[in-house]
Amino acid sequence: MINVTKTFLPPIEEYTGWVQKAFDKFWLTNRGELVLLLEQKLKEYLGVDWIAITNNGTVPLQIAVKLLGKRGEIITTPFSFVATTSSIVWENCTPVFVDIHPEFLTIDETKIEAAITEKTTCILATHVFGNPCDVDAIERIAKKHNLKVIYDAAHCFGVNYNGKSVFNYGDISTCSFHATKIFHTAGRYSV
Ligand SMILES: *Cc1c(COP(=O)(O)O)cnc(C)c1O
Repeated sequence: MINVTKTFLPPIEEYTGWVQKAFDKFWLTNRGELVLLLEQKLKEYLGVDWIAITNNGTVPLQIAVKLLGKRGEIITTPFSFVATTSSIVWENCTPVFVDIHPEFLTIDETKIEAAITEKTTCILATHVFGNPCDVDAIERIAKKHNLKVIYDAAHCFGVNYNGKSVFNYGDISTCSFHATKIFHTAGRYSV
C-alpha cells in the first residue's frame, strides 16, 4: 500500500536537535537564522534564484495574485484545491475557468486563448498530482498576449521538467508544506 498523504516524521533526536538550535538562538519570528537556512537549502535543492517562506500555501497564492493580477481576469483551472480560486476572488480579481485535460487533469492549454479578453492579466494554473502543466505552450500563449503566469505547484515539490525543477517556470510558483503534501514542515511553511 502507498500512503499518498502520510506525514513523514524524522527520527525524534534529529528533530529535537533542530529545536535545541532554535532555543539556543532564541529567535522565533521575523526571518530567523533557521528560516534563512531552510530557504538557502531549498534554493539549492530546487535550483531556483529566489524563494520566500510564508506561513502556508494559500498566502503566497494571494501575494502572487496581488502582485500580478491587477484586479483583472485570471484564467484558471476548476480542478484544484479551493485556495487557487479563493485567492483570485480574495484579491478582487475575476476567475475565468478553462477546462482540464481528461488524462493529465491539468488546464487544457489548447482552450486558453479562447478565454482571453482585454481584461485578462494572468494565467494561474495548477500542476496536478505531480503532472506539470504544458509549461512551454502556456509560456508561448502568455508571451503572445502579454500575460503573467502563476503556477500553483503545491503537488509538485521535487518534480522536474526538461531537466529542471518545475518551480523554474512561470513568473511565480507557489507551494504548500502542509503535513499532507510531499515536503512538509510542522510549522507549515511554504514557498
Ligand atoms: C494544499 C494546497 C494549497 C494550499 O496550501 P495550504 O498550505 O493548505 O494553505 C493550494 N493549492 C493546492 C493545489 C493545494 O493542494
